[in-house]
Amino acid sequence: MLAAFGHAGFARARLHHRRLKNGARRFNWCVGEPEAGMDDRAHQAHYTAAQYDAVVVGGGPAGLAAALALAQANVRTALVARRVPYGDNRTTALLGSSIDNLRRLGVWASCEHLAAPLRVMRLVDSTDRLIRAPEVRFDCGEIGLTAFGYNIENRLLLAAMETCAAQLPNLVRIDDEAASVQIRPERAALQTKAGTSVEANLVVGADGRHSMCRDAAGIDVQRRTLDQAALTFNVSHARPHHDISTEFHTANGPCVFVPLPGDRSSVVWVNAPPEAARLAALDDDKLSARIERQAHFHLGEMHIEGGRNVFPLAFEQPARLAANRVALIGEAAHVVPPIGAQGLNLGLRDAIAIADVAAHELASRCDPGSTQALGRYEQMRRADVLARSTVIDLANRTLLADFVPLQAIRAIGMKLLDKVGPLRRFVMREALAKSQPDGAGSDRTSRS
Ligand SMILES: Cc1cc2nc3c(=O)[nH]c(=O)nc-3n(C[C@H](O)[C@H](O)[C@H](O)COP(=O)(O)OP(=O)(O)OC[C@H]3O[C@@H](n4cnc5c(N)ncnc54)[C@H](O)[C@@H]3O)c2cc1C
Repeated sequence: MLAAFGHAGFARARLHHRRLKNGARRFNWCVGEPEAGMDDRAHQAHYTAAQYDAVVVGGGPAGLAAALALAQANVRTALVARRVPYGDNRTTALLGSSIDNLRRLGVWASCEHLAAPLRVMRLVDSTDRLIRAPEVRFDCGEIGLTAFGYNIENRLLLAAMETCAAQLPNLVRIDDEAASVQIRPERAALQTKAGTSVEANLVVGADGRHSMCRDAAGIDVQRRTLDQAALTFNVSHARPHHDISTEFHTANGPCVFVPLPGDRSSVVWVNAPPEAARLAALDDDKLSARIERQAHFHLGEMHIEGGRNVFPLAFEQPARLAANRVALIGEAAHVVPPIGAQGLNLGLRDAIAIADVAAHELASRCDPGSTQALGRYEQMRRADVLARSTVIDLANRTLLADFVPLQAIRAIGMKLLDKVGPLRRFVMREALAKSQPDGAGSDRTSRS
């Protein structure tokens, strides 16, 4: 680095080394006076190289959850994420363990009142096929729960997470994007677009579908683009939803109405991409007429709220969940279509798992980014991610299949679910994951 300054630069370069309140060591290389127009903070950022136990890249819900979990477990953590308003109208059906995890992170208490409970889930065959499946109704009371989970707008969940993150003294926020990640044997080095340098033992790649961290770790990804796209928007309606989520199965994919607080629901409507684009372009009156019909009028008259988004659907599966000091979480680690509301529920479990592994390693005075630590993370998460991706894939394939025998098998399966209580209860329990990932480091004690 000094070579880049040249001889004169070397004479003027000063190395400031100080320990921050949060314990991270910070090395500042400062050359001369701040450039014209650069304030102190920008100058500081420009020439800073700080060392952390972990750096999280990406401030979506998975990244924020990981940053919170790591910092709360006394792992010195930096979060590299731009502070921007959440950009779409998606909501998340948080199921079972996700609520426990958000409680553990201290997030749930501040956003619970903004979420709607999901007590009943109805699956309705809305195809006009020869062989149609009967309606199946899952009621949380059957397995002794008061709710399967809660549905919340992502922007509200993220705001609650941001508030918690701002209160953690050992979580350093770098309001920027990672421009490069370099893996070195002893540590990973990250450079942001504005020039901040960060070094960490562990990189948590929460940077979504086109993950730079995944590329930096040399992890290949298998991608399968589906001929489906999800149109999302929120509606208010004349009739109450009674905390019932209703999924209409069509020949192009599901159309789901998930309760929001009050007489409102979020809609995820899966179609062939041209049809999704066509529906998204309809004016409010035409779209509400179309969606009321699609909902079989069970919620009465509907009003479309502002904002619509279309998401092309795909499956993405990296060859590994962790390698070379990088652990992947959230959509960097798995992309699945929004069937059965599993995506972020998986992502939250990833976040808790990597924090548990890192805290456990540090408590034993070991390297949280070592091959051994990453192996533990992979072992904890692989089966859950694989199993759920496979079930979602199968469910989607049988829904789309034109092959009549497959449609018959699906109809029989649904009939069994409708009629056989123990089977229905088994499926309900399986859909709700355990609150603690298998093999999670039980040791969350603080470091000495
Ligand atoms: C229509 C739809 C409905 C869904 N419904 C549900 C549901 O009900 N339940 C559920 O569990 N899941 C659901 N999902 C899935 C869920 O939305 C995703 O799993 C979740 O949003 C992924 O979060 P993430 O944090 O991993 O990724 P993202 O939200 O994509 O966040 C990644 C972040 O990383 C940032 N980033 C990227 N590159 C860099 C960089 N170089 N430096 C810094 N930052 C970077 C991006 O700007 C972004 O903010 C749904 C998905 C869809 C499409």
